[in-house]
Amino acid sequence: MTVDGDQGRPRPSGALDARTVDHTARAGLSTDEARARLVAVGPNELPRPYRPSAARRFAAQLVHAFALLLWAAAALGWLAGLPQLSVAVVAVILANAAFSFAQGRRADRAAELLNFLLPTWVSVRRDGVPRRLDAVEVVVGDVLVLEAGDRVPADARIVVAGALLVDTSTLTGESLPTSVEAGGIVFAGTFVVEGTADAVVTATGSRTRLAGIARSTSLVTDHPTPLTRELHRVVRGIGLIAVAVGIAFFVLSAALGQPVARGFELALGVTVALVPEALLPTVTLALAWGAEQMAHRNVLVRSLDAVETLGSTTFVCTDKTGTLTRNEMTVVEAWTPVGSAHISTPGYDPRADLVLPQVARAALERLAQSGARCSRGYAELHEGSWRAHGDPMEAAIDTFARRLDLDTDGPRARAFADVAFAFDPHRRRMSVVADGEVIAKGAPDTVLPLCTGGAAERAAVAAAAAELSARGLRVLAVAGRSAGGVPPTVAAQAEQGLTVYGLLGLQDPPREDVAAALDACRRAGVAVAMITGDHPATAAAVATQVGLRQADDPVLVGADLPADDAALGALLDHDGVVVARVSPEDKLRIARALRARGHVVAMTGDGVNDGPALREADIGIAMGASGTDVAREAADLVLLDDHFASVVAGIELGRATFVNIRRFLTYHLSDNVAELAPFAVWGLSGGNIPLALGVLQILALDLGTDTLSAVALGAEPPAKHLLERPPVSGRLLDRGVLRRAFGLLGPTEAIVSMLAFFATFLAAGWRPGEAFPGGVTLATASGSAFIAVVIGQAANGFACRSATQVPAALGWTTNRLLIPASAAGFTFSLVVLLVPAFAAVLGQRPPGVVGWLVAGFAGVAVLGVDAADKAWRRRRRSRGPVRPAPGRA
Ligand code: ATP
Repeated sequence: MTVDGDQGRPRPSGALDARTVDHTARAGLSTDEARARLVAVGPNELPRPYRPSAARRFAAQLVHAFALLLWAAAALGWLAGLPQLSVAVVAVILANAAFSFAQGRRADRAAELLNFLLPTWVSVRRDGVPRRLDAVEVVVGDVLVLEAGDRVPADARIVVAGALLVDTSTLTGESLPTSVEAGGIVFAGTFVVEGTADAVVTATGSRTRLAGIARSTSLVTDHPTPLTRELHRVVRGIGLIAVAVGIAFFVLSAALGQPVARGFELALGVTVALVPEALLPTVTLALAWGAEQMAHRNVLVRSLDAVETLGSTTFVCTDKTGTLTRNEMTVVEAWTPVGSAHISTPGYDPRADLVLPQVARAALERLAQSGARCSRGYAELHEGSWRAHGDPMEAAIDTFARRLDLDTDGPRARAFADVAFAFDPHRRRMSVVADGEVIAKGAPDTVLPLCTGGAAERAAVAAAAAELSARGLRVLAVAGRSAGGVPPTVAAQAEQGLTVYGLLGLQDPPREDVAAALDACRRAGVAVAMITGDHPATAAAVATQVGLRQADDPVLVGADLPADDAALGALLDHDGVVVARVSPEDKLRIARALRARGHVVAMTGDGVNDGPALREADIGIAMGASGTDVAREAADLVLLDDHFASVVAGIELGRATFVNIRRFLTYHLSDNVAELAPFAVWGLSGGNIPLALGVLQILALDLGTDTLSAVALGAEPPAKHLLERPPVSGRLLDRGVLRRAFGLLGPTEAIVSMLAFFATFLAAGWRPGEAFPGGVTLATASGSAFIAVVIGQAANGFACRSATQVPAALGWTTNRLLIPASAAGFTFSLVVLLVPAFAAVLGQRPPGVVGWLVAGFAGVAVLGVDAADKAWRRRRRSRGPVRPAPGRA
């Protein structure tokens, strides 16, 4: 992208705007005045989006598809003369609604917490000096200092604009950025995509145009995310099967000559047994739990879905500065044609050890002063220590100039009062026109072609740049010329005929724990590529330092990437790839090409133009500390500390959440098998074997045992070995879940429960071949079957905590929610079994000694079968081939 309109964009007339500068207006409010206005008018917050009242949200839980199904069941039960059944089904509807409502509120609270953790910082000028504020503190009259990447925090009138382009799509739907000049208005919620501006705030909070639009949109609808859609599909599928099986039992009962009421009871029993009413809210809660855990690890998710997608990530494309490195820049070498300076003190403190030849002092001062004038970022003293304000690289240049005892404040302020042709990642340079001089700074390969000078001179600069880059330094060239009579108004006009002043070599040390995090990725089967706008030599050196690439691996360059997406995907599809000098479009293509190869791609980005790539990737990751608002808006995740290791922590928690969802799915589905078995036995025996469980008992099981333990499983702490395995597949109901629920745990519970049923008959004197006794014996047998399922499910809760490890290996108490949840479920079951009034309603009686013994065996059986299966699979795995990390076969 260029600022001189050579790509058909509207051309902002930065120079004319610059001439209309009103210096008084740009000094801003005094701190006292701003404080008084904030008290008078209130914070700059949008009115909260419309939320239905609690009563309406609760009511919504009573009328969704499953609830309607259950209402219909209750009505049919009433008509069929089964009032106690109807009352029980209504109780289930109400209990589920209360449960879903409570879970929804918790998830909402988690989302609110995340918003709270992500304030938007804005630059304003108060008392004539720049300040950074939380956007809520902005008041009318404040002077906003806007630059590319910023989200406009309030409606404001432009005082001075430097090639300002604003993306207004959030307000107007207009997809092309529009140019705004001095006197024009920028609106809250829009984004600066190019250029710079000073603007005086005219309206804040609920008086902004954005607030007006929000008010006129009466209902904010939530768009379902892919995971939610998949879940709805799964749940709807199971619901349909439940109804179909219910109808089949009704027909079978009629065919066996049973009364209609009996048919209804059977149909209702199986339908209610199978309908997974509480599944959706439990999943939402598990995702919210994952999001909360991630927030504690400095990873903010912007949609709950991202939690799960991050867990399935197979390829991470990371940038370099700030993510792999600390983003704490220091000019360690400054090169001029007449001599170089060497600086060994890191940080932004102007006091430093400086080695420079006196003969080069004037040239070095010109280099430093020009570099600082062509920068917005600067070093500032904050609570006794020097730190970067704005772009750390520019702050490092400012520091370098201060280290040469130069005054940088005044010249920089004057430069930005004049025309600035902002940095953009295509041109990889920027320039200012100030005090009769043009100054440009940028990547040497884009600045040197704009310079005059002989071949030998150019060769010397290029050689110096190559030498600095090879040491892993970020290199900037600074060049300038006299502006002449008429100041240039477009970048192409300004940036020509320049003289090279010199090169700045900036060091940005790698973060300490990046090597360990990269190692963890490799073990987890996640490939990592470095995708950077920096020079190939710098990128290669840093990638080698952090252990991303082997010293001899080739480094790809954006301009040389194959045009064909399939070829591009094949080229990049291995661990440790480094691509340098990429443009935002290259990033977009890289994300697309890797996705086309079946990868789940996470891509980091911080720049104004990174939005499309962040959206294209399965997981767009923006930087919270240093990134632009534009990138944050487009991202699914924000790294509060910009740190690569946090991505890895996020992947681990994403996997943990996904695995937790599978855990309680396995748990739910096993219970369904045990609940369905009595009906299957009844049907297969042609109605001769009585039903071991009635509808009310099934409802009691669903409510009493399943819900709380499922929630507890959704908050299972991440297993230690989660990052030692290949990524989880994107499917919730995979072969593993189905095998364990329908092939192993469910059948075990079902068999023991039926054994408890038959054993009670045998103990009462019944012998095979005889007709089954009814009355007290049947109620006692049914009570035995009931408590066998309860005990089996309690054991199942512990078995489902891991698909590979037995509860003893995990520690019985390491999920602190599960024990109280199981205890609560068990107590509930005992009440409805042992208290005669409740037991009578459910049609059961307390088991005898034999019944208790067999029921107790359900726990042992479930844990035993689970342990045997896990041991068998471990043996098979240890004999099988080890899956290599991608690209490291
Ligand atoms: P990284 O992966 O290290 O974060 P990036 O992809 O964000 O890098 P850019 O910020 O687009 O890279 O920078 C690309 C090149 O543009 C840099 O190597 C540098 O030479 C030049 N550059 C970066 N920032 C500025 C700036 N503020 N002024 C002038 N030139 C700059």
